[in-house]
Amino acid sequence: MSFENLGLAEPLLKAVSEAGYATPTPIQAQAIPAVLNGGDLLAGAQTGTGKTAGFTLPLLHMLAASQKPVAGGRRPIRALILTPTRELAAQVEECVRLYGKYLPIRSMVMFGGVGMNPQIEALRRGVDILVATPGRLLDHHQQGTLDLGNVEYFVLDEADRMLDMGFIHDIRRVLAILPPRKQSLLFSATFSDDIKSLAERLLDNPKVIEVARRNATADTIAQKIHPVDRDRKKELLAHLIQANNWHQVLVFTRMKHGANRLVEFLTKQGITAMAIHGNKSQSARTRALADFKSGDLQVLVATDIAARGIDIDQLPHVVNFELPNVAEDYVHRIGRTGRAGAEGEAVSLVCVDEEGFLADIEKLIKRQIPREVIAGFEPDPNARPEPIQLGRRVLHGGVGSHSGGGGRSGGSQGHGGGGQGNPRQGRGGSSARSGSRSDAGRRAGGTRPQGR
Ligand code: AMP
Repeated sequence: MSFENLGLAEPLLKAVSEAGYATPTPIQAQAIPAVLNGGDLLAGAQTGTGKTAGFTLPLLHMLAASQKPVAGGRRPIRALILTPTRELAAQVEECVRLYGKYLPIRSMVMFGGVGMNPQIEALRRGVDILVATPGRLLDHHQQGTLDLGNVEYFVLDEADRMLDMGFIHDIRRVLAILPPRKQSLLFSATFSDDIKSLAERLLDNPKVIEVARRNATADTIAQKIHPVDRDRKKELLAHLIQANNWHQVLVFTRMKHGANRLVEFLTKQGITAMAIHGNKSQSARTRALADFKSGDLQVLVATDIAARGIDIDQLPHVVNFELPNVAEDYVHRIGRTGRAGAEGEAVSLVCVDEEGFLADIEKLIKRQIPREVIAGFEPDPNARPEPIQLGRRVLHGGVGSHSGGGGRSGGSQGHGGGGQGNPRQGRGGSSARSGSRSDAGRRAGGTRPQGR
């Protein structure tokens, strides 16, 4: 299978070849012909599978093939791509520019946290493909600075993330302002009941394609657990980075302030580190990411929300400084390494408080992750698990510290609607995403990476 066989126009083949892609990835081999065929699509694929080219290439092809000359006036927006985060929006639009560089197609990225006026100016100049996060898109629509009445193609990227982040109402509002006749594509890493009902509402007789999930393809990722005492994790991390001469390490923490404290500690040890999370300004986040990608920054510390949509190729090291309390997040985190067939290493620093989370993760990925105690960092065998404070909630992650089946949450939130059957809920409602959807949306409000 080659890109030539997929029926893409010459300018696209040229750009793809310059990007260094020799063969289409499995999602591309399936999605590109399906989209070119004109029907709706429901695609199960995660970041790292090449899904972005899977929808941008056929979109560019179709837009270029049916482009009409515009005599004066504003060119209408013909394609809308909706993403959950600013970072993902920026990356998707970069792909549109990269693959479309030999086509007369104009694209634009739109997200919150930056001024409205430059965006209004860009819209005035004319845009064929708009890549946007929902909040700012709706702001523009309300202000009358955005006309979506000519949209022919609509892509919902990382739909499961959008629902996790409480964007369902925003998505519904966007759907309500789009023309009813359009070709729609929905990409999601998971197919929960919520995604299925969204797909039913949005898609008309869609073709369904799914590529192997990352937890099934994690063979190129070497996973390791370093058991360690909770108050020695920082030291151990600095030791691992220095002793192994690691560069480009993506480190995950559970909370923003934990990320900041860790950055302070690493900096004191002479390791260049920055945190990327929702409280940082967009320009600080963009700069941190650019420095990290270029290799100027050794360590990027991120929370799960901030890391969504970050695409860094062939990242050699991912470190779980703290294990996520939602097992699926582990799979997403380690998916940052070993992409596109490259080897990667994912290590987790696990203290006694987190052994229950580890058990959940191993159950999900159906394998035991090898343990390796680092000399000088042997954990205290008599240490007892302590509860973990997560915002206003208390999690019990230590083995034996949760009542079987009752979940790990000691918090007061009950189950809201819509959680049943959602694999991202975590067990027994321990997930930070338990509670009602609108509740999740409100909670996310303060740290919403997409902003307004
Ligand atoms: P995505 O899943 O869209 O985030 O893509 C993951 C990474 O794979 C991106 O950095 C792309 O540049 C890269 N990529 C996409 N398609 C191909 C391909 N056919 N061959 C090699 N790399 C690719």
